[in-house]
Amino acid sequence: MSFLSRLRRLFRQLTLQGVLLLLFAFCMVTVFISAYYLYIGTKQETELSSEVQRPDCDDSRVTPSRLFPTKPMKAVDVSRTDPVVLVFVESMYTQLGQEIVAILETSRFKYHTEIAPGKGDMPTLTDEDRGRFVLVIYENILKYVNLDAWNRELLDKYCIEYSVGIIGFFKANENSLLSAQLKGFPLYLHSNLGLKDCSINPKSPLLYITKAKEVEKGFLPGDDWTVFQSNHSTYEPVLLAKTKSAENIPHMEVDAALHTTVVQDLGLHDGIQRVLFGNNMNFWLHKLVFVDAVSFLTGKRLSLPLDRYILVDIDDIFVGKEGTRMKAEDVKALLETQKQLRVHIPNFTFNLGFSGKFYYTGTDEEDQGDSLLLANVDEFWWFPHMWSHMQPHLFHNQSVLAEQMLLNKQFALEHGIPTDMGYAVAPHHSGVYPVHIQLYEAWKQVWGMKVTSTEEYPHLKPARFRRGFRHNGIMVRALIPCPSSPLVTI
Ligand SMILES: [Zn+2]
Repeated sequence: MSFLSRLRRLFRQLTLQGVLLLLFAFCMVTVFISAYYLYIGTKQETELSSEVQRPDCDDSRVTPSRLFPTKPMKAVDVSRTDPVVLVFVESMYTQLGQEIVAILETSRFKYHTEIAPGKGDMPTLTDEDRGRFVLVIYENILKYVNLDAWNRELLDKYCIEYSVGIIGFFKANENSLLSAQLKGFPLYLHSNLGLKDCSINPKSPLLYITKAKEVEKGFLPGDDWTVFQSNHSTYEPVLLAKTKSAENIPHMEVDAALHTTVVQDLGLHDGIQRVLFGNNMNFWLHKLVFVDAVSFLTGKRLSLPLDRYILVDIDDIFVGKEGTRMKAEDVKALLETQKQLRVHIPNFTFNLGFSGKFYYTGTDEEDQGDSLLLANVDEFWWFPHMWSHMQPHLFHNQSVLAEQMLLNKQFALEHGIPTDMGYAVAPHHSGVYPVHIQLYEAWKQVWGMKVTSTEEYPHLKPARFRRGFRHNGIMVRALIPCPSSPLVTI
């Protein structure tokens, strides 16, 4: 038998077995090749992270920081969860719970609150194939770590399956242990500390609104701070602070000068990303970091753009009684402040609301202030605030209202005040909402108005629910109170 015919016979005999064998061999080779490249990749990654682990701060005792340029966990699959935050509160009346909810409401994010269950009663997390929540927040993180095994597994599985993160707060009380391990985590807590000089870790991947440029000097509010300590690479400090006395903390393994007060769990321990706060929201930086944590853990789904438009209206120009009005030095200070603000806010310009009837009705010094304001008329923006500061809703006759407006317009034309800004504010926002039809008509007729503002729509309080609206072709802005001063609305 020739070699060729033997081969042909062998081939015929082994056809089925041979194909299977070949297939198996091919699979094995593929597996080995994949494993090899995976190994090489991991090795490079490890080298990369160990390289950047070296702290590059001046203070060599700072907790080592790792740089993760991108989110280390799998990308958030937007389509699989509803954009709703699940908030576990201690009760409906606790301050921190209300603050968490207020921030979510201010940002107009949807949320669902639950009283944190002692045991059982986990809300339904999925709706067929969809996750009902995009983020979980615990007002008290101990309620999470102490969940019964069944519910804990349910929640953790949900978080991993749907890439859902957890935010938690740890608020120490007089019964808290000074040093303890967070149950089930390679993380140690040291509680009831007084802290000072808070700094932000510039390498924290969650920073968005929060900028890491400066140290917040001075004592942090309260003596009930908790700091976090761990050797596990999953934990990345976000905020760091010194102890008030700058002494070391007993029982702490690492002799660190800076202690972590807010820590980010990158999910390398159990596949779930978390951000833990060592106190409540009383410290202003916590509010910023909280907003950033919500943004980061939801893959920017619950996030507001960084653009801000700032307009400062100063109404009642010329209106004040003798002895309370602006003098020349006040006008100079106003100009100087505007100049300083322009360093940080391009083209920042104060918007002055005038009532012309009261021009030159102050003391001599105050009249000089009036003169100086108008000598600098081009330095400011201007808007009409009614000739005699009368409330427009008191005018039922539209033509009488228009006459009053015309007097103010005449005053503007005489003094070089621009009349084409398309913006006006009614004294006390009267007639804007509820709508006084005559006001809108007279505004359009005399001033060609396009924009005004109110703080009454749909209700004065709570301020975070105020909204703008349009009526008769005029846009109405919602004024929101400035947190630092109840007299100022923004
Ligand atoms: Zn006014």
